[in-house]
Amino acid sequence: RAKGLGKARYAVFDASMHAQAMALLQMETYLRRAIERQEFRLHYQPIVNLKTRELVGFEALIRLQHPERGFISPVEFIPVAEETGLITQIGAWVLREACRQMHEWQQKFRSAADLKISVNISPKQFRQLDLVMQVKQVLQETGLNGRYLKLEITESTLVENADLVANMLKELQALGIGLSIDDFGTGYSSLSYLHRFAVDTLKIDKSFIKDFHVDWEKSKIVNTVIALAENLGIDVIAEGVETSEQAYLLQELKCQFGQGYLFSRPLDSQATEALIAAKLECMGV
Ligand code: C2E
Ligand code: MG
Ligand code: MG
Ligand code: MG
Repeated sequence: RAKGLGKARYAVFDASMHAQAMALLQMETYLRRAIERQEFRLHYQPIVNLKTRELVGFEALIRLQHPERGFISPVEFIPVAEETGLITQIGAWVLREACRQMHEWQQKFRSAADLKISVNISPKQFRQLDLVMQVKQVLQETGLNGRYLKLEITESTLVENADLVANMLKELQALGIGLSIDDFGTGYSSLSYLHRFAVDTLKIDKSFIKDFHVDWEKSKIVNTVIALAENLGIDVIAEGVETSEQAYLLQELKCQFGQGYLFSRPLDSQATEALIAAKLECMGV
């Protein structure tokens, strides 16, 4: 009996493993084709000063519109890109396009002169020993000053190859580039690296912001992170701000910056440009 059951289980397991492998392979093929056909786009989500509601910059977020499947979320394809190594090419494109676009807006609009662009860099991208060279070249070619670029990395990037990454980050910071820790609180949250890597911004993960205004435990965590950052002279951005209650409470806790649907969803380049052009400096409710 048990044996029979075991066999059946293996059969199911095999079938689902097979389906998974097929899905992965299919996604890899999509990604290769999307690279060839230049089907990736960037959307830009505003980051605002919670007190003044002033726009301070954008996070660049990659988008893929598949001809048959429609919109594919980066949550789905970035892990595949990382696993297959395609993240190297995709990440290089993201960096260049984000810098090119930001520089174009800075040239075109006075209201964009001080805006910063944040770009997500996956841990695998730090395995490229020429990453620093690549960034330098992109800044040079696009004309963007490094002080308007921020790299968003996760805690896992700092933990893997810590020494190598530390050196690379130092070189990048020498170019004026800012360093944000993305999804803060979901990883190792070791405090020592905040100092060691000269982190200048913490982005509190949206899972802590969700319902934090009614969840005592979460609000204590958020409060602690904000206080810690303040003591270390590090900026804080709350991710996933969806309601005015959240924005209000965050501001009460002295969190300087926010990002989320309350202020704006990620916008395509046209809508972003319209926002900059309108000099919308008071966002949200
Ligand atoms: P992330 O870097 O933490 O980006 C924030 C995510 O939260 C984005 O999802 C954004 O659309 C979403 N978001 C913003 N405001 C709200 C809100 O108020 N409520 C909720 N529920 N969500 C909100 P998105 O664009 O789907 O990206 C997901 C993740 O994919 C990113 O998380 C990042 O880890 C990765 N990703 C996106 N673009 C890139 C890229 O160019 N390169 C790399 N390496 N990763 C990327
Ligand atoms: Mg991010
Ligand atoms: Mg994040
Ligand atoms: Mg996230």
